[in-house]
Amino acid sequence: MKDKSKPSSKISSKESYKLVAQELGDVRVKCVEELKYQLNSGSVANAQCFYIATTVKELITALNLAKELNILFFVFGSGTKVLISEDLEGLTIKNRTSGIKVSGVKGKVSVKGIGVAEAMVEIESGVSLQKVNEFLKDQGLKQFTFPFIPNATVGGSLFVTPDLQDLTQKVKVWSDGEVSDIEVYELKRNDIILSTIIKVKAAD
Ligand SMILES: Cc1cc2nc3c(=O)[nH]c(=O)nc-3n(C[C@H](O)[C@H](O)[C@H](O)COP(=O)(O)OP(=O)(O)OC[C@H]3O[C@@H](n4cnc5c(N)ncnc54)[C@H](O)[C@@H]3O)c2cc1C
Repeated sequence: MKDKSKPSSKISSKESYKLVAQELGDVRVKCVEELKYQLNSGSVANAQCFYIATTVKELITALNLAKELNILFFVFGSGTKVLISEDLEGLTIKNRTSGIKVSGVKGKVSVKGIGVAEAMVEIESGVSLQKVNEFLKDQGLKQFTFPFIPNATVGGSLFVTPDLQDLTQKVKVWSDGEVSDIEVYELKRNDIILSTIIKVKAAD
């Protein structure tokens, strides 16, 4: 579990959760959420304060808020690896960011004319590997050939998938309140992955 901050001794958890709801929206923040509906692992536990981030901006705002209030936080993607039996304190964030786009292409000239040789694809960390693969296919790019769990998100997979790391050119991370673009080898276990850029060759 990613719990990179200590609980505040100045204000109670209840007061902190109230502030979280005020900042992120009463409708969006659930106080006591049954996680069995949110996790793909089948774990049954509650989150004391639960929020679904749908954009990178929302993800950063929620993380900054947890830091500011000095409360525990935990980010997960599709939750296939999240095995918990006890209720989660602090702010639990489900990452449902969904952006994916081609951010650059390198051309080639062949007998068939001018075509794409390779492309840079920018992917937000909440996108599932299945969605990425479908996107690559639609764009005429080489799909992943390594085995993966379809629902698994890019953010939940990058730390443990060397084949994905090999394709990765840059990673945008939130690290203790700072957002930066780093190389994949610079990733630290406590970093929260916001998005990645992968380099993919054109399909044969
Ligand atoms: C061939 C193969 C090999 C595998 N090898 C491994 C292995 O060696 N080790 C392993 O653990 N799994 C392994 N898996 C399982 C698989 O990679 C993971 O279950 C999956 O990628 C997790 O994705 P998720 O979105 O469900 O992550 P979740 O279950 O949601 O989260 C998994 C972990 O990642 C963290 N996390 C989630 N999103 C982010 C983010 N944006 N930034 C930072 N941290 C985040 C969570 O806090 C949690 O600790 C393997 C799967 C396959 C098919």
